[in-house]
Amino acid sequence: MTRLVVASANPGKLREFAALLAPFALEPVPQAALGITSVAETGTTFEANALLKARHAAACAHLPALADDSGLEVDALGGAPGVYSARYAGATASDVDNLARLLRALVGVPESARTARYQCVIAFVRGGEDPQPLLARGTWEGRIASAAAGTGGFGYDPVFVPAQESCTAAQLGAARKNLLSHRGQALRALIAQLPGAGYSPAP
Ligand code: IMP
Repeated sequence: MTRLVVASANPGKLREFAALLAPFALEPVPQAALGITSVAETGTTFEANALLKARHAAACAHLPALADDSGLEVDALGGAPGVYSARYAGATASDVDNLARLLRALVGVPESARTARYQCVIAFVRGGEDPQPLLARGTWEGRIASAAAGTGGFGYDPVFVPAQESCTAAQLGAARKNLLSHRGQALRALIAQLPGAGYSPAP
């Protein structure tokens, strides 16, 4: 087993990564378990933020590291909240605060104009200075419901209705969400690149 630091403190993301990495000879270790604190997300793109989080965790832990940067793009809001999804209602906003702000911003917007997508970029580095980081993106199309429903997932899931579904992402089971989601797609695309970087699935 190779230990792999996961540069996130978000319990929802950590649960999803643990399930998605289970078939690989990679043991995900949350950065907080190694005493590593979050780095400021100063990038303006998902790629830049994913990479800076992965490099920071790898440099502190002296281990390979994986980080994702993700967010929700809402067409009626010109792509907001985007890379600022975690801080949409303020620097210390909770998921509930962010979701409430989103619903307020969309009051009066008809269903046909409530299209949105989750984006996720995952970065994998072998060390803090890795000159050849691996990057992979996943996109999950859907629309924003007018009221929250469901208790699964995290973040905006109670108002995100995937294009393939008639319920919210918070009403899908964890396995179905991992199959369809932006994070699941990005992680599978990243995993497809791992053999070239010297890691193989467990037999
Ligand atoms: P960051 O990647 O840590 O900057 O935060 C991403 C933010 O986007 C999260 O805090 C959520 O608000 C939102 N987000 C990303 N992925 C998901 C998801 O799968 N479900 C719900 N919200 C998500």
